Order: sequence, then C-alpha cells, then structure tokens
Amino acid sequence: MFQAPRGTADHLPEEQKYWRYIESKAMEVAARFGFGRIDTPAFEDSNLFIRSVGEGTDIVEKEMYTFEDRGGDSVTLRPEGTAPVCRAYLEHGMHNLPQPVRMYYFCPVFRYERPQAGRFRQHHQFGVEVLGDADPSVDAEVIEVAWDLMTSLGLKNINLLINSVGDPQCRPAYVEKLRDYYSGHRAILCPDCTTRLERNPLRLLDCKVETCHALGNDAPRSADNLCEECNNHWDKLRQYLDSMELPYQIDHRMVRGLDYYTRTVFEVQPVDGGGQSTICGGGRYDGLITELGGRETPGIGFATGIERLTLNLKSGEVPVPDEPSPRYLVANVGDNARIAALELSVRLRRAGVGAILSSGARGLRGQMRQANALNIPYALILGDDEIEKGEVVVRDMESSVQESKPLEKFIEEASKSHAKGD
Ligand SMILES: [Zn+2]
Ligand SMILES: [Zn+2]
Repeated sequence: MFQAPRGTADHLPEEQKYWRYIESKAMEVAARFGFGRIDTPAFEDSNLFIRSVGEGTDIVEKEMYTFEDRGGDSVTLRPEGTAPVCRAYLEHGMHNLPQPVRMYYFCPVFRYERPQAGRFRQHHQFGVEVLGDADPSVDAEVIEVAWDLMTSLGLKNINLLINSVGDPQCRPAYVEKLRDYYSGHRAILCPDCTTRLERNPLRLLDCKVETCHALGNDAPRSADNLCEECNNHWDKLRQYLDSMELPYQIDHRMVRGLDYYTRTVFEVQPVDGGGQSTICGGGRYDGLITELGGRETPGIGFATGIERLTLNLKSGEVPVPDEPSPRYLVANVGDNARIAALELSVRLRRAGVGAILSSGARGLRGQMRQANALNIPYALILGDDEIEKGEVVVRDMESSVQESKPLEKFIEEASKSHAKGD
C-alpha cells in the first residue's frame, strides 16, 4: 500500500471546514484592505530563491526541493511566497501601476524539513505583500492586516512582537558588535552557533539552545544600533502602531530567518508557545527587488501557515462553522419508490436545492441514521403509498416531526425558498 510522502498530509473532508474558514476570513480581510489576489507557479528558476532568500541560509542550503528538469534547467519548488511575487511584479511592469501595489496569495510551500509536530514538507500559506512604498505607515498597515486576520479568526492568547533589524547602512556595524559579543563566549556556544558566528551572527539571537538563549539577554540590540534613517522609521512605526491601538511588544531577539529583511520585522506567537510556534511572520525587504535585478523598490509583507492556524484554532477551541450539508436526504422504500426518489432528488438539485439519494437498501431506519450521520436537516420519505397519492413525507430530523405534503407543491416551495436564500 502506498502512503503519503513523509512530512506531507492529506486534508480530508472533515478537516476542510477549518480551511474554508481560514480562507474566507483571509479573503475578507484582504478585500477590506484593498489587496488583489496573485497566483504564481509552484516552481521557479532555482536562482530566484538563491538570490532572494540568500546563500548560507538553512532554506537554500538544506531545505529546497531543487532538481534539474528534463530540459536541463534547475528549478525549485517554491520554499516561500515573497520572491515569486516580487518576480511577478518585475516581470509584469507593476511599477507602472499606482504605488504601492497590494497583493495576497494562498499557495503550497515546499521545504525539506525534519518532520515534527506542526512542520510539514509541503504546507500551505496565506501571505500579503505591499510593494512600492517605504513609508512606515505601510509597515503599520501590514501589521494591522496580520493582527486583524488573527483576531477575526477568533484566536486568543497571542502576542504581536516587533523589532527593527536595520538596513545595509547600519547592520554591518551591528553584526560586528554581535560577533564581538558572542566571540567572548565562544566556549559555551552550541555547535550550530559556532558556525553561525562566522556566517550569520544575527541568527545567534534566536538560537533555542539554553546556553545560547541565555547569552541573548545581554547581547547588543539592533534597535539600539540603527542609523538615523532606520531610527526615524522605527520611531514613526511605533507611533503609528500606538495611535492604531495595536497591542505590540518589542522583541529584541527577533531577527527572522531570511536574509532579505530590512528594518521592520514582526511575528504573532501564542502566549505560551514562544518562537518555535510562530503563527505568522513577516517584515520589510527594501533590497529584495534590486537583488532580483529591478530598480530600487521597497516592499513589506507577511505569511501565515494554514496548518499552523488550524492547530491553533483546534487547541484554542475556536468554534468553526460546519461545511454546509445538503438540505434533504431522499429516503425510499421499495423498487417503485427508488425511481421516484431518484427523480425527486434530480428535480431538487436542478432547482439548486441540495439533495442526495439515500441508499434504499438499508431500510427506513437505516436511512434515517444516514441522514443524521451526514448532518442533513430533513429527510424526504417516499413509499408506495406516497407515490400513489402524489405525496411526499417531510421529516424534520431534529424534532422527528413529519408531515405529508403534495409532491408538486413541495418541490415548488423548496425551489422558491432556495431562490430566496432561506
Ligand atoms: Zn546556539
Ligand atoms: Zn539603517
């Protein structure tokens, strides 16, 4: 027997109500903020991600699904959603549109990760990107979108964390300060951090190993080491967030895993989960478009994992509406009734009314159980008597009250009430 590949999951019908719920809330929020949807291919030229995500990152070095296609080109399954959107912005000349351009996406994302709870090799993301405006009010707006989505979903006990990681003007000096600081403690760093110390000292700050983590408390803070422009941006951002009454906290350790972030970074985390269970994360990436060969274009966005959101909705016991069931189960007893029931279900469906034919072989009681199991509110019962009289029995499954109605009149009423949206 085949099984789904390691680190992947089937999303069965009973799981779908969470997905529909998240999608509909996300689309509602995106529309309210004036975002347009974009869909990009599942795979791209490998260099797009090497250039944008950055050589030396875990994603590029260990986690990408990269392969040569039959024509000899190196392609990579999308490991994140931002670079493809930026590629599309450039390819379609979107800098000619009124700026900023606001886009959102839903897409599968592929990373060869060590399988563990809540981590998948194929998972799904909702994300937004705003391109073409560097003003801190845009940062505040994108953070508001993230917070609005989380609260619209009904998630509670979550924190909104922000930080500024500076830009190419001020970051190199800060990184050197960090390197100096951690070099003084080299003996107690974990093996990963010893490597990071040379290649990417920023990542030392969010190491989860206890000794490294403790060192982070006294490490130099990026927000204290910003150049004047970055510092102005950071001040204004907090001023805007205050005036919007968004309940943010500053987290000096948060640097995010991708090289392309500049200035603002932010995350939403469960209060008792910490950084390993981040629900939503994003930041500004003003250098990314030039890295991809375009003219200087600022950008900011965030992404959130649908699987992770689903876990949080379940653990937070957030009530999620059930997927709609058909309104009627057409039950039938006897051979004649089977054809009549088939016809009745067809006529209802053609009038736009949800109806399914029950399996008549189970007897009436079995068919009623079927209606309950499928959450169908009404059963329609047809037997020889009803056919002879041109009637149908309508049974309310919740109250068990049933009444006979003339068949034609019933169909007419059911179609009408459907058209009215009842
Ligand atoms: Zn470490
Ligand atoms: Zn700066």
